[in-house]
Amino acid sequence: MTPETTITPVNVADLLVGEDEVLPVHVHVIDHPEGRVLVDTGLTSLHPAVADMDPRLVPGALDAIARDGVLAVVCTHLHFDHCGGNHLFAGIPVYVQRQELEDARTLEDYTIPEWVDAPGVEYVPVDGERELLPGVRLLPAPGHTRGSQVVVVDTPAGREVVVGDTAVWGGQLDEPETEGQRLVRSLEPSRAWMSHADDPWEPGRSA
Ligand SMILES: [Zn+2]
Repeated sequence: MTPETTITPVNVADLLVGEDEVLPVHVHVIDHPEGRVLVDTGLTSLHPAVADMDPRLVPGALDAIARDGVLAVVCTHLHFDHCGGNHLFAGIPVYVQRQELEDARTLEDYTIPEWVDAPGVEYVPVDGERELLPGVRLLPAPGHTRGSQVVVVDTPAGREVVVGDTAVWGGQLDEPETEGQRLVRSLEPSRAWMSHADDPWEPGRSA
């Protein structure tokens, strides 16, 4: 329990994209006075389907979070690098937009299905907006996937948004193009945390 709500990024893996670009994978820990919420779970093992991205795991990064107790997990979407640790949170509700869950279970080459529906993983399908805790809200943010959602968090430092892949780099929030990116800007956040960036986006300071 913390007196104030905080958001902490945790680097759980790195992916290789293209020739030599390394894309970090972060999960975001929201510590709220009522408990801990985890946004996305990264990945915890390797899989032939994504071998070309040469995933490098940070050993134990997620185990420490799981051990400390998590009230709820939110998946911004269900691409493999956002749900690969869901199995560590069996029995804890995992909030995901219903559209996203349907797509992950039915579309081909969308994700790694056995990571989505690992034993014991319990989804709470969400239709649209939902308040998770006082000052912590889920909002649908289509764009990166049609079922993507973002997490809006009111903190003492201002309004912050955990956006998943709604923006993969800060420039996409400087010049928003998708419905989800425009939504994030319309919330006028002081910070937006992206899964694949080390630092959050802040208005007027390009990442
Ligand atoms: Zn994605």
